[in-house]
Amino acid sequence: MAFESESPLDALWKEYARAFQAWDDLTIARWLAQTLGQLEGRAWRLSHPLVGAYRLAAQIAHEKQIWFKRLATPPPAYAESPCCRAPFLPLLTRDVRESGLICQHCSETLVPFEEIPADVRVEVEAWAQQYEPVHAVAHWDDRQRRSTGNYDAAFENAAEQAELLLARVGRELAPKLLQIYPTVIWEDQDECLEVRPEDVPV
Ligand SMILES: [Zn+2]
Repeated sequence: MAFESESPLDALWKEYARAFQAWDDLTIARWLAQTLGQLEGRAWRLSHPLVGAYRLAAQIAHEKQIWFKRLATPPPAYAESPCCRAPFLPLLTRDVRESGLICQHCSETLVPFEEIPADVRVEVEAWAQQYEPVHAVAHWDDRQRRSTGNYDAAFENAAEQAELLLARVGRELAPKLLQIYPTVIWEDQDECLEVRPEDVPV
């Protein structure tokens, strides 16, 4: 079933991932540990090519249980994740209130929303609450769409608001999370509203 619903983009990323599948366990462990050192201390766009490469390798490493085998030592700034014991690498998305911060190794919840330190959580929550109704425009049903009179204009307006709100994540929220975690990744697009990373200036 999963394959039937696979998008062309998913298929492309699977093709990209083959490059890492050929690596042996030790090579992939060392590459991940070294790349974590290069990622450290910055908030990164999800769309950044280095992050994309890291995520591909990390998913394969998770399937091969690389971190359990302790083949390479990650930089000391990274704690061990409670979900899968990989180094702590959180992703901030618009679904943070439901899903918390997401582990980039196993894709499970790494930090439940309630466990984000309170001062930052309050700001993240306010942001996510603002984002929800904007994002929802992409999922309006026919009745809601008709009630606006001009759905194209409503969609366009929502996309513009989403661009501004996502830019705020890159400028304000991600740097605050960076005071807590060694590295932070933030989602810099909204596929439902057709907002691309290049539409989100920071
Ligand atoms: Zn994990």
